Amino acid sequence: MTDLSDAVNALTKPSRTKVIRDDNTTVTVHHDPLLAQLEQAVTSAIGNGGGGGSATGSVLNDEALYRLTVIRTQLGDWCRLVNVKHDRQDAVQSLRRWHVAFLGGTGEADFYVKALRGWAYTIVELLDPPKTVPLAGACPVCKAVNWVGPDDTLRASPVAVMYDHANPYRSVRAMCRVETCDAEWVGADSVEELVEEMSEADHG
Ligand SMILES: [Zn+2]
Repeated sequence: MTDLSDAVNALTKPSRTKVIRDDNTTVTVHHDPLLAQLEQAVTSAIGNGGGGGSATGSVLNDEALYRLTVIRTQLGDWCRLVNVKHDRQDAVQSLRRWHVAFLGGTGEADFYVKALRGWAYTIVELLDPPKTVPLAGACPVCKAVNWVGPDDTLRASPVAVMYDHANPYRSVRAMCRVETCDAEWVGADSVEELVEEMSEADHG
């Protein structure tokens, strides 16, 4: 399979992930295509009266609407270039149609692969951001006890453990969020050691 097909499939095909639960059993979770998930995020916001319920929900919906608008506009341009119909309500079908027409032409794929990967990354980050668990205490590397948050305020607990919802064990990592430090711990073993080290320091 080519890079372009991979990039198109990542956005237009349903997917499955195995999620390992706390009791070590696994469940298989089915996901709609990424583009469909983005459309649903926007539609559900309108169904709720447009504003969304909680503050975070509303921010997510604004961002989703913005991202979807950008993607629709770009996809519309691409469809025009290869003379296929662009359905504004169905990005999955539109992208598939574009892909078939594009493969029949002589266009250079690199630009599109890059753009499509960017869309997929953006949607995943938006709809399923990594989970963050701050660790109390000083960073063992830079010894800082505070860090500057994205909103420029001083915050406690510079070191945080992060993991992706779909694959907590394999994706687990920790990092110091002090800009000049950037210490990072990758993998379950090193994160476990870090947590032990920090809780010992905390108690003694
Ligand atoms: Zn640090």
